This record gives sequence, structure tokens and C-alpha cells, in this order.
Amino acid sequence: MYQKLFIPGPTDVAPDVLAKMATPMIGHRTKEATVLQQNISEKLQKLMYTDDTILLSTSSGTGLMEGAIRSCTRKKAAVFSVGAFGDRWYELAVHNNVPADIFKSEPGQPTTPEMVDDVLKTGEYDVITVTHNETSSGIMNPCQAIGEVVRNYPGVLYLVDAVSSLAGAKIEVDRWGIDICISSTQKSLALPPGLSLCSISERAVEAAKQVEFRGYYLDLIRLYDQVKKSFQYPSTPSLSHMFALDYQLDRIMEEGLDNRFARHELLADLVREWAEKHFSLFAAQGYRSNTVTCINNTTGFVFADLSNALLERGFRIGGGYGPFKATTFRIATMGELEEGTLLELLAAIDEILGLEA
Ligand SMILES: *Cc1c(COP(=O)(O)O)cnc(C)c1O
Repeated sequence: MYQKLFIPGPTDVAPDVLAKMATPMIGHRTKEATVLQQNISEKLQKLMYTDDTILLSTSSGTGLMEGAIRSCTRKKAAVFSVGAFGDRWYELAVHNNVPADIFKSEPGQPTTPEMVDDVLKTGEYDVITVTHNETSSGIMNPCQAIGEVVRNYPGVLYLVDAVSSLAGAKIEVDRWGIDICISSTQKSLALPPGLSLCSISERAVEAAKQVEFRGYYLDLIRLYDQVKKSFQYPSTPSLSHMFALDYQLDRIMEEGLDNRFARHELLADLVREWAEKHFSLFAAQGYRSNTVTCINNTTGFVFADLSNALLERGFRIGGGYGPFKATTFRIATMGELEEGTLLELLAAIDEILGLEA
């Protein structure tokens, strides 16, 4: 049965975008494939406010996170975590035999520029990873201010997970000094899952070339070299995703980037206002995500009951995730969501839980 999705990925895909996935195949070593990838790259550079090279990967976002931490770490990576997806960077490092340390914030609190400065001062690290928008806890980290700190450490690469925020919040890759900014298609970009993408700075390319064992499929230099040579992919990419992404980026530009970011903020404001009236917010003030809101279940209602009642009405919301599973629930406001649909959801929750509207 069709359900309106308010989970933090996958998000609903517009029917015309979905239809682009059914575009007839082309050869992946043709001029058409080159033009397709080049067009996508140019549009993504606009979306990410960068002149850096764009890499695509036929994997979900975790694939490029794995490729990035493995390809770029020469000495040791400092992983900053404010939830489950921050922790994932550390797991990726461990399983790839990449030296790394993890630095966690208190629950609900962001990664701060001061924390990053204290860690980098030790001189032990040449890579840091930060989650721009932590989907498990609804925290949006101050990535611009962190970038200003990283700039004082010229040998250090700045890797950012923007999987659940790109196209839902403004991320200025060049101004913020981000070396690798990673996202995937099924969150705020509002496409089906299965493709990920990143920007990569020349600094990061030069550093990665010094790493002897970067793996094979997720080796960022292998992806980079093929882009430089022919704007193609080293193996066979998901061309279906590329057709849909190319088209979706046009739609995003048509809406206007600032309009799109403002719409996400407005929707998140509505959820926050509603949530603060009936519950409380998990993330500290000033660090709240505009694409996913994590709400403390202060009244102790049974989440599964609410979820089932909402499913009967055609809505799917998110439960808690990772360490906050039992005590929180999440409402995502990503992609093509409109205000009217969100208000319908909130009214339905009010009615089911008997909350005062
Ligand atoms: C969803 C998500 C991931 C994982 O991305 P996949 O595309 O599922 O591999 C990583 N980080 C964040 C912040 C996410 O929201």
C-alpha cells in the first residue's frame, strides 16, 4: 500500500522523477554517458557551491564514506560523532584497518569548533570526519565554524557526511573549506536509493595518492581518474539513477536553491513548534536539523501503536534510532514535502494521541 513517507530516507519521489528511472539504456562508454555525467557534475557543483570535482558511486552513501576515510587517511583519522551515523565513520575505519579515534559529544549536543581545535592541536591526525546532519539525533553541526578551525591545520583533510542534508540545507563546500562532502540520493535529493556522490578537493586527491592501499571499487582516485579522463565511471554505473538525478537536479534548480532551503526550514519549524507544545526536542537549541526532527517521547506513549494507527491513514513516521531508539521518535521533512501534507500528518497524530490541537 502507498504510504506518505515522513521517515528520514527513503523519501517520496515525484512521479516524473521516478519515471526517469525507466529511461532506455545507453552504453556506459558512449558520448551520451559522458554528457550525462558531465551535466550531473555541473549541476551538483551549483548545489554544493563548489568548483571541486564531483564523483559518483553506484553504492549508497556509506560506500563513499568508506572510500573517503580509507583513501584519505595517511596517519590517523579523528572521527567526531553526535549519533549513530557519526559512529559509522569509526566502524568503517576499524573494518578497513584505518587508524582512528572517536570523539563523542554529550547526547543532544553538537560537535563544536573548540572540540575539533583541541583534538587537532595534538598533531596526531590528518583527517577529520564530521556529520553535517545527524539523522539519528536531529542535530545539525556547525560545519562552517568547524571549517574555519580546520583551515589552521594545513595538513588536515575535512570530510563531511551530508547524506541527509544536501539539497535540504545550504552547504557551501568551498567557503566552508570542506575537502570531501558526501551525500546519497534517497534523502533530501528525493530519488530512489542506490547512488551516492561527493565533491573532492585537489588537496584531498594529492593526499589520497600517498595512500598505498585504497581498496578497489571505492578507491576515490580510481573514480577521480576516470572522471578526469572521460567523465565516465570505472565500472558500469547505475545509469537509471543518473537519468533520474540529472532530471531531478533541473527540478531543484527550477524551485530555486534558496526557496528549497527555506521550504525545508519552514517545514522543520512547524514540526518543532508542534513538538515543543506536546513533547520536547532532543537536539540543543541552535543545532536543530531542518530535514529531520528528533522528538523526546516525554509522555511515554507506545510508538508502535502510534505508528500502526498512522499507517492505517497512509502515513509512515520514524521511530528512534540507535542509542535513542526507545526514548525518541523522528519526523523527517525532506525532499518534495509540502506544508499541507505535513499539517495533515500532525493533525492525525493529535487525533490518535488525543493531543490538544
Ligand atoms: C542515511 C545516512 C547515512 C547512510 O547512508 P546510506 O545511503 O544509507 O548508506 C549516513 N549518514 C547519514 C547522516 C544518513 O542520514
